[in-house]
Amino acid sequence: MPEQIRAIRGVRDILPAEAPTWQTLEAAAREVFEPCGYRELRLPLFERTELFARGIGETTDVVEKEMYTFQDRSGESVTLRPEATAAVARAYIEHGLFTQPKPVRLYTVGPMFRYERPQAGRYRQFHQVNVEALGEAAPALDAEVVGMLMAYFARLGLADRLALHVNSIGDAACRPAFRAALAAHLEANLGRLCEECRGRVARNPLRVLDCKKPDCQPVIEKAPSILDALCGPCREHFDRVRAYLDALGLRYEVTPRLVRGLDYYVRTTFEVLTGELGAQNAVAGGGRYDGLIELLGGPADPGIGFAIGMERVALLLGPRPDPAAAAVLLVPLGEPALRRCLALAQALRATGVPTEVAYGGRKLRGELERANRLGIPRVLILGDDELAAGVATLRDMRSGEQRRIPLREAVAVLGGGPAAAGDRA
Ligand code: AMP
Repeated sequence: MPEQIRAIRGVRDILPAEAPTWQTLEAAAREVFEPCGYRELRLPLFERTELFARGIGETTDVVEKEMYTFQDRSGESVTLRPEATAAVARAYIEHGLFTQPKPVRLYTVGPMFRYERPQAGRYRQFHQVNVEALGEAAPALDAEVVGMLMAYFARLGLADRLALHVNSIGDAACRPAFRAALAAHLEANLGRLCEECRGRVARNPLRVLDCKKPDCQPVIEKAPSILDALCGPCREHFDRVRAYLDALGLRYEVTPRLVRGLDYYVRTTFEVLTGELGAQNAVAGGGRYDGLIELLGGPADPGIGFAIGMERVALLLGPRPDPAAAAVLLVPLGEPALRRCLALAQALRATGVPTEVAYGGRKLRGELERANRLGIPRVLILGDDELAAGVATLRDMRSGEQRRIPLREAVAVLGGGPAAAGDRA
């Protein structure tokens, strides 16, 4: 027997039973973001490697260790996108979207690829909903974006199970001094840091603040706070963002240790955390990236956005009822009846009733068993002599009750038309 070929490690199939959950996540994005003026952008899944190396930062975990990078047949280095923002910025520049009235509000949904150690809630191909608002520096936009993120979770009924954390990580004016002070503190405590963090001190000391290892916590707790190091403009920006979040009635915590894994962030950063998923506790994260568009060869336009981790939200949401589950099974008991049932199924489906037809081969008892297994609540049985009399038998699978209905009323009865009310009573 040929050997079975399995999916790649860290990559999962989203099976039909999970589809209603995923469709709910996607529909909620459209329903929440579009009334706020956000429009969908669909981007390629791979880009030139240079885009991510320059955009995300050469010394980040993502670029150093996690990218799926390969040479295509022409020898060009390409990378499966590990995140969306750099690609959104590329498209914004390439298509001159920056000439539109600002802010330019965009969202995109799709898979990302990172070579991480797979575990529950962490995969090598995962999916994100991304939102980006480009070309506007006003702190009120930060509040709009964060407010929309929380509105998304509220729409899914998850608001009470999540906590919003916000911070400011300063900008090019104030972060270098903070970075130096932090590095000095970490340097002085090098022996008390985990191995990974020791490597980070010189290259990317802010990342140490993000370390979850117990060993590092005492050193992190004693570290200087970025909020004490903000320059005047960054401080004012953050004060105003908080005032607007308050005006929106949002609950949040200011978490000075909240830094993000990618280099392009400045000023406002935020994360949404859950206590229900173990170590993979971040369901969404984002922030401002005011220098990114310029860094990628575009105008000096600011930007802010977030990414929602769909696998993690799907875990929180759990299974959803399937709106496409068959509501009725038509069981013809002969050839003329089958022909009538095919036409009836078409009419029912056209009114939005998911309908299945038994194509024969099974006895009536077998069809009823199948309806039970599929959870189909009603079965319409049509024998050839019933057909001749213009009637059919409607069986309620839960109660086992059967009654005759006129065939010409079948669509109304099964489709929720006027006759259906009586049918339910
Ligand atoms: P990041 O771009 O790293 O800030 O990620 C944004 C969100 O995507 C995180 O808060 C997670 O919910 C999700 N995420 C990131 N990496 C993974 C992964 N490897 N597997 C599943 N979800 C992820």
